[in-house]
Amino acid sequence: MEFYPVVIKHKHVETEDAVSLEFETGPDHPLTHFKSGQYITLKMRHQRQEYLRCYSYSGMPDQNTVTVTVKKVPKGKISKWIVDEAKEGDEMMVAGPNGRFIIDPDLARRRVYYFFAAGSGITPVFSMISGLLEHEPKSKIHLLYGNRKEEDIIFKSKIDALAQKYEGQLMVEYALSKHQKGFLWTSRSDWSGLKGRIDGKMIADFMERHPAEVKDCTYYLCGPGAFIKDLEKHLTGMGIETALIHKEYFSLPETDSSTSSAIGQH
Ligand SMILES: Cc1cc2nc3c(=O)[nH]c(=O)nc-3n(C[C@H](O)[C@H](O)[C@H](O)COP(=O)(O)OP(=O)(O)OC[C@H]3O[C@@H](n4cnc5c(N)ncnc54)[C@H](O)[C@@H]3O)c2cc1C
Repeated sequence: MEFYPVVIKHKHVETEDAVSLEFETGPDHPLTHFKSGQYITLKMRHQRQEYLRCYSYSGMPDQNTVTVTVKKVPKGKISKWIVDEAKEGDEMMVAGPNGRFIIDPDLARRRVYYFFAAGSGITPVFSMISGLLEHEPKSKIHLLYGNRKEEDIIFKSKIDALAQKYEGQLMVEYALSKHQKGFLWTSRSDWSGLKGRIDGKMIADFMERHPAEVKDCTYYLCGPGAFIKDLEKHLTGMGIETALIHKEYFSLPETDSSTSSAIGQH
């Protein structure tokens, strides 16, 4: 893997515990030529040890800069450092692009896409959706995005603006698992979106409200391992072929429980 030194041009706060880093690359840099859904690998030295961490591109391919979005994982070494300490002007060693969780937009294609994301799992999904809206106008996109509370929803205003601009092409619903009034984590009591964790019943109801009008359908799941495993089981239980279900695991299913709150759903 070849690592390139790149400088953080902008650090943008997305939510209380998530930031986007925009790296200065230029149009000809190997890191800028990726497909939406792919990721970069950061090599970092932290307390005299070397760490490699993957972060999905949240921006669009072939620009002058490369953007990734990082959410803090409790007790996480590198995500905490990036969110709290990394600053504009810092140089980082970055390799990429990598990954087969991709879309390849086609102007002529007429497909229905279902995206299911939890927490930071929106990162590649946001890039994919942005690309499809621009380069695959005949397709329809349905996004179900889960978080703990409204304040945790990464890219909410951008997603809402896209849904408004591409009305009838992009349909979005948000689910909050910690919306109840009276708890410490209460955000707003007037939440009118979905309530609860994204589970089998929620995706079945979602797909009933957003039926596919064409046979060509694909499904993209991104988030912590337990979230993906659970949804995949439900989708295959509904008779959907595994070949149509694309997955990007941000963590292994067995590691999720200790870090659940960071991801939003578990
Ligand atoms: C292909 C790929 C793309 C990714 N893209 C993104 C992205 O765009 N944005 C983003 O914020 N993260 C992304 N991740 C996750 C990221 O690579 C790190 O795993 C995460 O930032 C935690 O690193 P850390 O050093 O802070 O935690 P560590 O110190 O490595 O781990 C601390 C604890 O958290 C657990 N853990 C680690 N990562 C996760 C996780 N994601 N969910 C639940 N538990 C976890 C560990 O098992 C451990 O118990 C991606 C992961 C992969 C494999």
